[in-house]
Amino acid sequence: MTTRTPYLISGRTGDWEVVMGLEVHAQVASKSKLFSGASTAFGADPNTNVSLVDAAMPGMLPVINKFCVEQAVKTGLGLNAQINLYSRFDRKNYFYPDLPQGYQISQFKSPIVGEGQVEVEADEGYTFTVGIERLHLEQDAGKSIHDLDPNATYVDLNRSGVALMEIVSKPDIRSPAEAAAYVKKLRSILIALDTCDGDMEKGNLRADVNVSVCRPGGYDDYQATGSLKKLGTRCEIKNVNSFRFIQMAAEFEARRQIDILEDGGKIDQETRLYNADKNETRSMRSKEDAHDYRYFPDPDLLPLELSRKWVEEIRAKLPELPDQKRARLVKDYGLKDYDAGVIASDTEKATFFESVAKGRDARLAANWVTQELFGYLNKEGLELSVSPVKAEQLGGLIDLISNNTISGKIAKDVFLKMIATGDAAVKIVEREGLKQVTDTGAIEKVVDEVIAANPKQVEEVKAQRAAGHEKPKTLGWFVGQIMKASGGKANPGAVNEILLKKLGL
Ligand code: MN
Repeated sequence: MTTRTPYLISGRTGDWEVVMGLEVHAQVASKSKLFSGASTAFGADPNTNVSLVDAAMPGMLPVINKFCVEQAVKTGLGLNAQINLYSRFDRKNYFYPDLPQGYQISQFKSPIVGEGQVEVEADEGYTFTVGIERLHLEQDAGKSIHDLDPNATYVDLNRSGVALMEIVSKPDIRSPAEAAAYVKKLRSILIALDTCDGDMEKGNLRADVNVSVCRPGGYDDYQATGSLKKLGTRCEIKNVNSFRFIQMAAEFEARRQIDILEDGGKIDQETRLYNADKNETRSMRSKEDAHDYRYFPDPDLLPLELSRKWVEEIRAKLPELPDQKRARLVKDYGLKDYDAGVIASDTEKATFFESVAKGRDARLAANWVTQELFGYLNKEGLELSVSPVKAEQLGGLIDLISNNTISGKIAKDVFLKMIATGDAAVKIVEREGLKQVTDTGAIEKVVDEVIAANPKQVEEVKAQRAAGHEKPKTLGWFVGQIMKASGGKANPGAVNEILLKKLGL
């Protein structure tokens, strides 16, 4: 396992450290909205999933959706976080054309979930901890559509009032790659919990990325003193919705800040937008402070009071989370920690793997699932759900390897033919006569032929053994020739045994 080493960017005047904290907006997986019974279905005609509450008609009263509260509690438990039995909704006042209330109902002083933490596996193989500051519930706004008409903007309120969980991390993320790894881990937890579908393309999971730069040692000073000033002035990049863009936006932003500081300038705290086409961030607005929003308790909603018993009932029903799944895959199937991590990060992958591995050699199954199948799907840009080879079919192929019907090498060809034809492995092996030859008589015949045809190599291999080589080089050459002569179908174990005997070694 590698250790976490500081990620430094070198500038003209020396090295810089990057520090990041993320605010992730995750849409709650729920059929109806946070304060109304309107549907949250994606792709409906504009303004068809809008109740009078979502349209903010005068006199309408919000009513809290118990299921959304349960989802937030479940998520908090999954993030190893404090669940606050008392929380409260506040009005966050600001004007947007797609926010008809003129305020967003959010939670400010008393969020439903407090501090927690997430263990994250970096691509380089080390693990780091990201502190969770809080998770609060709030409503989403509608959507302004600017590109349907040159002279008008349209408003679609279908999204207005949909429940969001805003998950705020501490500034514990120390490189752009770590930021992407953190969101990946968060997403896998949310999907396992079934509290957010994690669909980033639909904007159901999006990150506001706070970036600042400081001289090496700044993060340690912050840890020692608790003073955020040690980290430098941060800028927030709004609504980044892919792992790659999170990483690219953070890279760009850190470099931009370094250039300003090295030119003797100072960083203005502001909100910026990332443009993926140009790979740059640009200023959107100067950053408001909390007091600019004139938060106050929403008088239409009572404080949210949860019973300890209800929270414990939710805890008792929590599904297996990625960290637990990983540990179990290592323990039950003897997988390598890394392979277990890859499989456990995704519920669908884990289910697939377990149905292949059940009753079979688990390591062999892990190899075929992660190397061959996932390798193929990655290369083709396909999702597991549309894999041309299903779990049962892959299991059938592995059975043929395990019972020595085919060799691992032939299996790779069979695998490609399974993809191409959709046929079962056993059918392909039958049809193409790929069955491994275990009949020793047939193998002996081939071995005899190869030995007779290569007297020079026979002398070589004997000389190598006489010189004390346990595994003479030329012996491997013989095995290769014999396998080739048998069309790859000879059982390698039998070939070795017979060859040694015939050579008198
Ligand atoms: Mn928010």
